[in-house]
Amino acid sequence: MKIADNKVALIHYTLTNATQDVLDSSEGQEPLAYIHGHGHIVPGLENALDGRSKGDRFSVTVSAQEGYGEHDEHLTQSVPRQMFSGVDEIEVGMQFHAQTEQGMQVVTVVEVADDTITIDGNHPLAGQDLHFDIEVVDVRDASAEELEHGHVHGEGGHHH
Ligand code: ZN
Repeated sequence: MKIADNKVALIHYTLTNATQDVLDSSEGQEPLAYIHGHGHIVPGLENALDGRSKGDRFSVTVSAQEGYGEHDEHLTQSVPRQMFSGVDEIEVGMQFHAQTEQGMQVVTVVEVADDTITIDGNHPLAGQDLHFDIEVVDVRDASAEELEHGHVHGEGGHHH
């Protein structure tokens, strides 16, 4: 069986950046399970998985555009420190959930000044080319229930 729309694919992956730092990996954990063709994983990786079969191993480099998007400077803004009144110490790199024009987003603190905090609403991996090493562990049909819920049940997915 090949990976195609509405198939469940289970994959092991290791994600590295341009300087070969490992950013994320399923090694030592359950494989990642997703329903193909629904945009649950970044477009460049989903395209590269299309038509693959169980046991396939490959590497793919995904451009930022096909990954988590280009870095958008408009998503960086300075806000008054008072907005973080409940937080004792604010440091560069801290992440918060914030209500923005684009909805609920994770923002990262990129600069701390006396009165203002600069936050960045870009995905932490925006603007980066991503390198994936992939192993296809299994491919199967999605059940009607999985398609209805929009996520995988069982191994690598939801247990409910
Ligand atoms: Zn479910």
